[in-house]
Amino acid sequence: MKIAFFVSEATPYAKTGGLADVGGALPQALSKTGTEVKVFLPLYREVRQKGIPLLKKADRVTFSWAGQPETFALWESLEGGASVYFIDKPALYNRDGLYGTPAGDYPDNGPRFAFFSRAALEALKTLDFAPDVLHVHDWQASIALAYLKTAFADDPFFRSTRTLATIHNLAYQGLFEKSVLAETGLPESLYGLDGLEFFEKVSFLKAGILYATALSTVSHRYSQEIQAPEFGCGLDGLLRQRSESLAGILNGVDYGVWDPSVDRDIPADFGPGRIQGKAVCKQALLREFGLPADGKDLPVIGMVTRLAGQKGLDLVVEALGSLFTLGVRLVILGTGEAGIQRSLETARRRFPSFFGLKIGFDEKFARRIYAGSDMFLIPSRYEPCGLTQMYSLKYGTIPVVRATGGLDDSIEEYDPVTGRGNGFKFAEYAAPAMLEAVKNAVRIYGRPEVWGKLRTNAMACDFSWMRAAQEYALLYQSLVGR
Ligand code: ADP
Repeated sequence: MKIAFFVSEATPYAKTGGLADVGGALPQALSKTGTEVKVFLPLYREVRQKGIPLLKKADRVTFSWAGQPETFALWESLEGGASVYFIDKPALYNRDGLYGTPAGDYPDNGPRFAFFSRAALEALKTLDFAPDVLHVHDWQASIALAYLKTAFADDPFFRSTRTLATIHNLAYQGLFEKSVLAETGLPESLYGLDGLEFFEKVSFLKAGILYATALSTVSHRYSQEIQAPEFGCGLDGLLRQRSESLAGILNGVDYGVWDPSVDRDIPADFGPGRIQGKAVCKQALLREFGLPADGKDLPVIGMVTRLAGQKGLDLVVEALGSLFTLGVRLVILGTGEAGIQRSLETARRRFPSFFGLKIGFDEKFARRIYAGSDMFLIPSRYEPCGLTQMYSLKYGTIPVVRATGGLDDSIEEYDPVTGRGNGFKFAEYAAPAMLEAVKNAVRIYGRPEVWGKLRTNAMACDFSWMRAAQEYALLYQSLVGR
């Protein structure tokens, strides 16, 4: 089975969020199921700066783009692991950010990712790799299916290619002015309500939803949620029409990387049955944030998150005063929207001895938070899958989550009577509901033996990619009719 993966970020090359963890780990897990995967990414400046060795596969691949000849270079990673190829077009990708700067998205993101998708299809032909399944991720790559349907409609090379579009986050749809069609060599006939039109804009994600042989999203719960108005982002009707072809496959964890017993970026290693190192990590974390270690063992709550409306930071800011009366400390690592950053910085000045804040994107720092915290707070308004709760579990850090999407699918409320469960949940998107869940967690934290049992449960959870990879492999097989 030959699979092509078009994705806009993948570890270790370029990352802004969970999509990169999927783009990096899933192809490797799939290759262990006997599936051959080739991954395609734009050659961002970030990839160049990492100094990862690359091999040039083609100097000038030429194709027709909006009536003009266009070229790109094609590179292959020599990093090992999955086969990864890069579309090299410096004018589009040699920039500071993947999608934009803190000031906002790049205005030409439509052409940037349409070019990536179109060029990646061309690259498949250059490599003579006709995929059984073309697996596109999110809006940045979904638009490839519009080219398959038009420029490549009669191309025998793709005759037996089936397609799968995975929606990692329905709220990001890639909406552009209608003129983007002409700019990117797509016919005007694709515009219209039964085409890519979405409230007088062009939706790249809609190309995936309409044209893919099948669809998937990253948890069962989210696959249901997006078929209803609350989280359907205006596309729920369309998704209901495709309900039969919409799967929900929970993401996984690359335990080769996310495991406190092998993690070299944390101050002390630890694991089930040898938990002492975790206390060392906690003390180091408090020091790093300049929070006092006052002798009492107060629980530390960690968060590692994009600063985006989705992530529930408004609840956190609202609840801060009450949170600190519970005797907890909070540490947040995040980057994103300037407004959220400002309100966190204001709060940090109000509660300097309880609240540690670091603005930035820092994977090693993130690991120190997973390792050194006692609890991990994820109050998301919605969460398609969520990876941070799964990483926390492995690091013995107990998730306190809102019961939505993949958070609801992966976290089971701890019951001290039966000893079952791996975390704490709340349903209503409201600060008092969140506080109640934290209170429960703090109460259990005060009973070290019970907390130890809960932590053992958490660390024993297995969300390895193999399970997800097997589900994807079955889905691919069903698409090609094997
Ligand atoms: P999303 O994809 O919506 O951002 P996920 O929970 O699926 O959320 O994935 C988030 C990923 O990004 C995790 O690997 C998390 O550790 C990482 N991450 C988020 N913010 C930061 C940050 N500021 N620094 C380092 N890693 C971060």
